[in-house]
Amino acid sequence: MDLEIELLPDSKRKSLPQADNLPFGIYRTDHMFCMDYKEGIGWHNPRIKPYDSFRLDPAASGLHYGQAIFEGLKAYRGSDGRIRLFRAIENMKRLNRSAWRMCMPQVKPETLLEALRQLVRIEERWVPDKKGTSLYIRPFMIATEPFLGVRPAKEYLLSIILSPVGAYYPEGFNPVKIYVTDKYVRAAKGGVGEAKAAGNYAASLMASEEAKEKGFTQVLWLDAAEHRYVEEVGTMNIFFKFEHELVTPALSGSILPGVTRDSVIRLARDWGLQVEERPITIDEVLEEAQRGGLKECFGTGTAAVISPVGSLYYKGKTYPINGEKTGPLAQRLFDEITGIQYGERPDPYGWVEVL
Ligand SMILES: *Cc1c(COP(=O)(O)O)cnc(C)c1O
Repeated sequence: MDLEIELLPDSKRKSLPQADNLPFGIYRTDHMFCMDYKEGIGWHNPRIKPYDSFRLDPAASGLHYGQAIFEGLKAYRGSDGRIRLFRAIENMKRLNRSAWRMCMPQVKPETLLEALRQLVRIEERWVPDKKGTSLYIRPFMIATEPFLGVRPAKEYLLSIILSPVGAYYPEGFNPVKIYVTDKYVRAAKGGVGEAKAAGNYAASLMASEEAKEKGFTQVLWLDAAEHRYVEEVGTMNIFFKFEHELVTPALSGSILPGVTRDSVIRLARDWGLQVEERPITIDEVLEEAQRGGLKECFGTGTAAVISPVGSLYYKGKTYPINGEKTGPLAQRLFDEITGIQYGERPDPYGWVEVL
């Protein structure tokens, strides 16, 4: 890729935010990556340039019909000072799968990853160094063609922005209270639930706002057709640890295929656990919870890595899990994955690359 690079003079660069106060998504770095697409030309004009607003035609079709997708990953600074990416190629491939589903153009995963590496290297000073902190990386693509008809756009913008973020658990795990919704659904089979499409998150806001009003942290989503099968928790994949197996819903088309989900499955299998990807009903989960057979429940995703679920609330009843405490498996997975990400533990799977 012929990457054009325009750097801000040192005097114009922002001062770094306080490392101990980095709320998610507030700060942005000095530079960004952009690249344009036009039917007949393909991707062109890849560039790293000072962070700035976009000029978009008010008729840009992405603003009206939602051809917009994104990714989320992180760069981590280890105690050795070096910067690491975790399975970043998987995010590039998933961006392409999302693009395919939304009738948006493909981009070579390795080419995009190379641009991402260059951007992170340029913004190296923005990667905070306290354990648990990181530089959040947000690649995204939006349709820019000015056209008010409903069809796939012929012009797109692909961009990457960066945001330093604090530790998700500065004071240790905090198991969350979850509201099981049988009113709203996140995604239906045949829909776009398995794509990281912007509209999915707009569609989920009402349910999580209602759950928050009732004193819960997030919602657990059931399937759209029967409201019986467990799908995800908030914007995370979900796992249940029973006496003899670790279960996560199978990727059925309406579930986002998380990189963390895949990493947890891999680790747990290598630790000798029986891991099942299968349909699982809310009735099975709650019966086991009542019987004492549900040992742990946790969400998985890049932001939190592991998010222990303390209790589930369904149809007027609360079901505590593991005395609302973090279980040993959740703790072990969190320690192992973050250990690999920060270069403190061996990386037998080749998940990490040092920049
Ligand atoms: C991004 C996302 C996840 C988690 O994916 P990771 O690759 O593990 O970060 C899970 N569910 C939804 C709906 C998501 O958007």
